[in-house]
Amino acid sequence: MTGTRVNEERLLSRLRALGQVGRDAQGRLCRLACTDADKAGRDQFVRWLRDAGLEVQVDRIGNVFGLWRTHESTDTPILIGSHLDTVINGGIFDGSYGVLAGLEVIETMKAQGVAIKHPLAVASFTNEEGTRYSPDMMGSLVYCGGLGVEEALASTGNDGTVLGAELARIGYAGAAEPGFLKVKAYLELHIEQGPILELEGIPIGVVENLQGISWQRVIIEGTANHAGTTPMSMRRDAGYAAARVITFLHDQACASTTATVATVGSISFAPNVINVIPSRATFTVDLRNPNERELKADEAIFGQFLERLAVELGVNLSVERLSRTEPVTFDPRMLSMIEEAARRDGLATKRMTSGAGHDAQMIVRIAPAAMIFVQSTGGISHNPREHTPDPDLVAGANILLQVATRLASE
Ligand SMILES: [Zn+2]
Repeated sequence: MTGTRVNEERLLSRLRALGQVGRDAQGRLCRLACTDADKAGRDQFVRWLRDAGLEVQVDRIGNVFGLWRTHESTDTPILIGSHLDTVINGGIFDGSYGVLAGLEVIETMKAQGVAIKHPLAVASFTNEEGTRYSPDMMGSLVYCGGLGVEEALASTGNDGTVLGAELARIGYAGAAEPGFLKVKAYLELHIEQGPILELEGIPIGVVENLQGISWQRVIIEGTANHAGTTPMSMRRDAGYAAARVITFLHDQACASTTATVATVGSISFAPNVINVIPSRATFTVDLRNPNERELKADEAIFGQFLERLAVELGVNLSVERLSRTEPVTFDPRMLSMIEEAARRDGLATKRMTSGAGHDAQMIVRIAPAAMIFVQSTGGISHNPREHTPDPDLVAGANILLQVATRLASE
């Protein structure tokens, strides 16, 4: 190991402290976007930004930035970011690790008086998880101009709330226009959320691309009728139709020679009664593939299946697109910098595709970007058992430090 190191004590203690902020009555970590719990997490982050002497800025979609600039630096910062919101009963590392490591890196550089040509900024993007409001990765999407800020603020949550009103209520409807920082390069450090690094005993993942993600909501309308008196041949059973869709998606993905994965993760029936044939099934479809052409083909095949199914079962089908992101490729030069930094620290690396969505895939539209992964024990995430060993957390932050220092001094 060479050169400056992060303060591992400070990084780890902040991660653990933030992991206690925003827990519900049952002790679950639930910092859903723009809730009181999210506010508590944001407030803690802002206190740390101020303690570190960083300039705090909040934009209109609620993204929070901590900025370090010097008289000598340009106005094109190196941005390090991720998110502080969580799913329901989430873990303490997803998102928070990247944000707090970003803060740690900047605080370290500032304390060491590193000569920078470009300012350093750390960002926490609003509503990355998409648990309460769609689409997910909203703050970074708005930041890069992929979604209008007014449209995003008007989003209605699954609890009936409006994002803009909630953001104002918790005090994070900022004044800065999204995109106000002209980013020179973007870095995101994240837990892998998959099992590969741990299985292969490799500490550092170098993320070269990201799967495209297609989210749709399907509503199937049939006819509610008596479960006992309606002959099987006379049913328009929305529940059965939904089951056929789920089976089709699973079989199709298993049989595919591509890297496609398909999931129906949320479903509800109406009237949802034991002795009534469902008149309506509402469910979500999550399709992912790292190749845009293949993902488009997966969507087309699924669409054709739905049309055939509607005719076969005599049900009405409607499909709503919730979000769609294209696969992305990260900056080859920055990937090499990550590998060089790891080599200097004596750490093995592996090039990877991210199976999960990340803010980096939005910011890559406006700046060269790269991601670093560290191990997730057992591949578990979005779960309180989410875990990364301390040495891996520290190692990842030190790689981030080296790459940020190099980018900032170019
Ligand atoms: Zn995340």
